Amino acid sequence: MNLSTTRAPSACLIELNAASYRYTKAKTHVFSDLDLIVTRGEQIALVGPSGGGKSTLLYALSAMLRLSTGSYRFEGESIQTMQHTELDRWRSSHVGFVYQQAALLPHLSLLDNVLLPVAHERAKKTEWKERASGLLESLGLAELANRLPSAVSGGQAQRAAIARAIMRSPALVLADEPTSALDDEAAANVMEILQTACAGTTTLVLATHDSRLLSASTRVVQMSELAGAAAMATS
Ligand code: ADP
Ligand code: MG
Repeated sequence: MNLSTTRAPSACLIELNAASYRYTKAKTHVFSDLDLIVTRGEQIALVGPSGGGKSTLLYALSAMLRLSTGSYRFEGESIQTMQHTELDRWRSSHVGFVYQQAALLPHLSLLDNVLLPVAHERAKKTEWKERASGLLESLGLAELANRLPSAVSGGQAQRAAIARAIMRSPALVLADEPTSALDDEAAANVMEILQTACAGTTTLVLATHDSRLLSASTRVVQMSELAGAAAMATS
């Protein structure tokens, strides 16, 4: 089947083939010859030891890093061959990213942080603002919408970061150890919110080494089991 002519809604969201990544100047690959197929709506926990390449793979899936070799198709479309502007446009409409630390801009309120992904949109300002407020409300942050990130807890900041990631209803949400800086209670709460927010058609790939976060995932993928990922340990 020629995937380049396959249009959504295809069940297959992500297809990585023989994917390798090596940081410039690094002697070895972080991963090589990696194959991964992700179906729309899956919630995947990507697990593996620290330094195993989880973050690097998430950056490659968001195309913040370009694969060194191999192919990456998203909804059947080649991401590999996109030019910068097209890639930025693709990322902003299809991918939401939740970082290890909430990574909110410190001088903006929670509401304005959530509005960042649509800051360049000239139309429908009122609708976007309503959506942002609605998301904050659904994540239990309505009262805190006008606070600066420094005036909320780590868990609340991370919930706002989730709202920011899903603001444009992306098909794919990538979360890089989003609970690692939180205590147990806040971690469980953030995790539940993330998985609920992504339930349905949104696909979630979550990097974690926290086994408590695995239970709600539809699939656990060991970094070392993706073909070739172990190559870095031997090369
Ligand atoms: P994980 O998220 O599983 O802890 P990473 O993807 O962060 O793993 O790191 C994988 C490997 O890539 C590690 O050996 C790390 O030192 C290396 N690495 C990460 N970022 C860079 C970088 N910017 N330049 C060079 N090497 C890096
Ligand atoms: Mg990491």
